Amino acid sequence: MSTKKERTRQRKKMGKGSRICVRCGTHQAIIRSYGLYMCRRCFREKAENLGFRKYN
Ligand SMILES: [Zn+2]
Repeated sequence: MSTKKERTRQRKKMGKGSRICVRCGTHQAIIRSYGLYMCRRCFREKAENLGFRKYN
């Protein structure tokens, strides 16, 4: 019981839930690089505005 609780705690502290997308609020595929803290979907939209370009 206590072990389970600790595990959940640690997971919350260190896991995906620690960061969420500042734009849409998801915790999936967050990009912390460049100090963006956005999910890859929002990043993709925002990236164009920021001057990032896809080279393919
Ligand atoms: Zn997002």
